[in-house]
Amino acid sequence: MLRSVILAAARNKWVERRVETTPISRGLVRRFVAGTTTEDAVRTTQQLADDGLLISLDYLGEDTFNAAQAEHTKDEYLRLLSSLHAAKLTEAAEVSVKLTALGLLFDPEGAYVNAKEICDAAADAGTTVTVDMEDHTVTDSTLDIVNRLRVDHPKTGAVLQSYLRRTEADCKEFSGPGSRVRLCKGAYKEPESVAYQARLDVDRSYVRCINALMNGQGYPMLATHDPRLIEIGLDRAKWFDRSPDTYEFQMLFGIRPNEQKRLAADGHRVRVYVPYGDEWYGYLMRRLAERPANVGFFLKGVTGKN
Ligand SMILES: Cc1cc2nc3c(=O)[nH]c(=O)nc-3n(C[C@H](O)[C@H](O)[C@H](O)COP(=O)(O)OP(=O)(O)OC[C@H]3O[C@@H](n4cnc5c(N)ncnc54)[C@H](O)[C@@H]3O)c2cc1C
Repeated sequence: MLRSVILAAARNKWVERRVETTPISRGLVRRFVAGTTTEDAVRTTQQLADDGLLISLDYLGEDTFNAAQAEHTKDEYLRLLSSLHAAKLTEAAEVSVKLTALGLLFDPEGAYVNAKEICDAAADAGTTVTVDMEDHTVTDSTLDIVNRLRVDHPKTGAVLQSYLRRTEADCKEFSGPGSRVRLCKGAYKEPESVAYQARLDVDRSYVRCINALMNGQGYPMLATHDPRLIEIGLDRAKWFDRSPDTYEFQMLFGIRPNEQKRLAADGHRVRVYVPYGDEWYGYLMRRLAERPANVGFFLKGVTGKN
């Protein structure tokens, strides 16, 4: 219920204006978002890399309605990749892109062309791209584009969401040699026809998907903050006799930072997903929806009652 309210607020312009101008937001934003500029993103990347962590950078800009906006997003990724290269950070850092931000909803071929240009630039800079997964209406078109990108850039990462009923089969299909797959639970509100609704079913599906990916020949990237699933991931890595360089854990910037460092100190590869950019509002609201414990504190700030 609270989750639905927050997700509705994520689309409400009045709430957005209040959130963007209230001082308490700034603290929350700093916790979950690296900043608004390319320089902020590179600075945060350097700090995380110094702590022994890997990074995937996401430029926040989801509502793209025309080619000029898609071009702007692509250009920002090219600028970011060139800055990461100049700062010698491309061994530690890759980028994550959303195809809707590159035009998927109004020009799928244009989105592919934009994504290909980003993948080319990433390869020149010595790093890779992971293509984020969005809601179920674009699962097929997103995976089709990932497959096309992999022709020239086989390390392009795909993302699969355990809440979708189809995902165990997708994991088997995407577990071939060299395939990089990020496994997450899924962040969108999806209908029962395509997605498990109960947390337990989503978690069980996640475990089946870990098994499929760890048993395959690809490179699983387990994106979760869930302590039980992290334990199961560690257990399966042992069971399937995987060395630590053949899989990784991923978590979001600002969430369980001590656990990120603990896993890295234990010799595991840990990648932090770092968003930056002006369009942080929708991202912040989705993080709040996942963790209602933060909401009371946050609402007091927005309504001025603290
Ligand atoms: C690197 C990364 C990339 C992602 N990419 C995508 C994507 O492309 N597409 C997509 O749909 N979704 C993506 N997601 C979001 C994902 O689908 C989930 O919505 C999100 O990660 C929350 O699920 P969870 O697995 O962390 O478990 P949850 O069910 O949210 O949490 C499980 C448990 O984790 C612990 N926990 C969670 N948050 C906290 C916290 N703040 N502090 C302390 N403990 C906490 C608690 O014990 C909690 O009970 C991504 C997530 C990550 C980490």
